[in-house]
Amino acid sequence: MVSTVFQQKKYLGQNFIYDKDFLSSLIKDIKLDKLVIEIGMGKGTLTEVLSRRAKKVITFEIDKTLKPALPPNVEIIYGDALENDFTRFDDFIVVANLPYYITTPLIIKFMRLKHCRALYLMVQKEVAERIVSRPNAKSYGALSVLCQTMGKTEILRHVPRDKFSPPPKVDSAFISIIKNEVEFDISLGKVLKDAFSKRRKKLSNIFSKEVLEESGINGNLRPENLSSTDFLKIRHALCGKISM
Ligand code: SAM
Repeated sequence: MVSTVFQQKKYLGQNFIYDKDFLSSLIKDIKLDKLVIEIGMGKGTLTEVLSRRAKKVITFEIDKTLKPALPPNVEIIYGDALENDFTRFDDFIVVANLPYYITTPLIIKFMRLKHCRALYLMVQKEVAERIVSRPNAKSYGALSVLCQTMGKTEILRHVPRDKFSPPPKVDSAFISIIKNEVEFDISLGKVLKDAFSKRRKKLSNIFSKEVLEESGINGNLRPENLSSTDFLKIRHALCGKISM
């Protein structure tokens, strides 16, 4: 007889959370009045908890062998979330216990989408720290600035390894990124890439004197010293001066 026991796939980040009371407490302060998009349905525990309070949940799962029974207000879409076109959805929020290997590209994908209003994500602790990190900290970088320029970031809870099955080899944290009205544009991406690929260099070696003067920023500083507001000033000064 062929065994039908489900084999968890480590390479897909399949560290599940089965404790529904814990999941309910994790999401209790989240306003679920918009469409909820979940990445990585797994066995559907978080999906089910979300569906109790949300009008509609659309959940994405790459592993077609996962087929939990879920309420009628849940739609399952199988496939790679990174390949999916989310522009077809109106206002939505994302809530997910992420597969950690796609964290950064997925966050960037959602930061670019105007209709994505907020993200509530379980991520690796070090990534959470990078996202909320402030200028001059070691963990401060392009991801910190991108998220903080376009939203308010917060670590909501540190989550111990034993909450997952199997326990991952890393610590985790549940974070929020509540987006503001600043829209992503390619010039901001370019400024951050230029700056943080040379994070130990002085700004005067990265941006022109004219741009630094217009943005009122001291050329002796380094990228890691600048706040997200400073980066917006540089982007503004660069507008029309860079060819994309
Ligand atoms: N939400 C469930 C929970 O909390 O128990 C599962 C979370 S588990 C950390 C991540 C899930 O994401 C797994 O079910 C995995 O198969 C799925 N996954 C991995 N890569 C994916 C991708 N590229 N697109 C969509 N889902 C993916």
